[in-house]
Amino acid sequence: MMTEKTDIKSLTLEELEEQLREQGEKSFRAKQIYQWIHEKLVDSFEDMTNLSKELRRRLADSYELTTLHMVDVKISEIDGTRKYLFELPDGHVIESVLMRYRHGNSVCISSQVGCRMGCRFCASTLEGLERNLRPSEMVDQVYRIQKDIKERVSNVVVMGSGEPLDNYDSLVRFIRLISHEKGLHISQRNLTVSTCGIVPGIEKLAKENLSVTLALSLHAPNDQVRRTLMPVAHKYALGDVLKACHDYFEKTGRRLTFEYSLVRGVNDNLEEARALALLIKDQQAHVNLIPVNPIKEREYVQSDEKTIEQFKNYLESRGINVTVRREMGRDIGGACGQLRKSFMEEGRDTAWRHMH
Ligand code: SAH
Repeated sequence: MMTEKTDIKSLTLEELEEQLREQGEKSFRAKQIYQWIHEKLVDSFEDMTNLSKELRRRLADSYELTTLHMVDVKISEIDGTRKYLFELPDGHVIESVLMRYRHGNSVCISSQVGCRMGCRFCASTLEGLERNLRPSEMVDQVYRIQKDIKERVSNVVVMGSGEPLDNYDSLVRFIRLISHEKGLHISQRNLTVSTCGIVPGIEKLAKENLSVTLALSLHAPNDQVRRTLMPVAHKYALGDVLKACHDYFEKTGRRLTFEYSLVRGVNDNLEEARALALLIKDQQAHVNLIPVNPIKEREYVQSDEKTIEQFKNYLESRGINVTVRREMGRDIGGACGQLRKSFMEEGRDTAWRHMH
């Protein structure tokens, strides 16, 4: 009978040590293997050249080294943003984005194939959830990109397709692997997890003793408007979500980010800016305004420049720290699950070339 191989890239160093000890190996072997996987980013057991041929063969017999296949990459001529499509071992396709900033290279990763949260303006959720990503598939998005650009990735945002707190265990493992000192050692302070507001998940994350930044997709200053945009708002009331966020801040000391996608005529008037300012006045937070990126399946439209400016100015006048997130890589097509979607719709061979 075929037994399924263990996904070695999802194991912590401690787990790997334990497993190798059981196989009669010295514990430093586990460290060597871990470093090959998570620091030197090799693609095969064959490449682990300080291990005996015999051990490499045994590893290959019992473990699988999950590696994503880069289907293609589009590079922006405007700002150097790179949008990647990766194929998973089972044939599913996900997207990741590299953004280049003065302060370093930031990668936005997906946490699930598809999503079941149903936010009205988001392309990732249109076809529901296919499956969760494994921790190995989350780290490997960063590993592939770092190998591709041959530069260090300094920041990771879990803000691509999927709801990270709906794939909780993989998320936490991902954070531990990517920040581990024997791996890429990306500081937890440079990691951001974005959630639509799953209260029990936020509460649990606060207790993990991590120091990652939490970003909340707020998108409205009250439950009534929020529910028209985000079905999850029927399940968790804004008051409870904000309380969980505040506790997260208290426990971790990490300042929060509130994301607010501006949709014309839905959540962008000055009344709403006022309500928002009141709502978050006691939070240690930064507001990120995102002019909505229209998807063809929905009728939502971006707010106009003047409205965005007014909204921003109002919040600033109340002493709130605000930035407007401008779309990166405008010349290379959509974002937020839109690349993957057009890829799936048009067929893998031709879609990528005709994407925009
Ligand atoms: N599920 C998580 C992370 C993924 S989405 C979350 O909800 O936070 C990352 C951010 O992009 C969220 O704030 C999401 O609401 C926003 N977003 C998704 N599609 C968008 C679109 N078409 N235009 C603007 N923002 C969008």
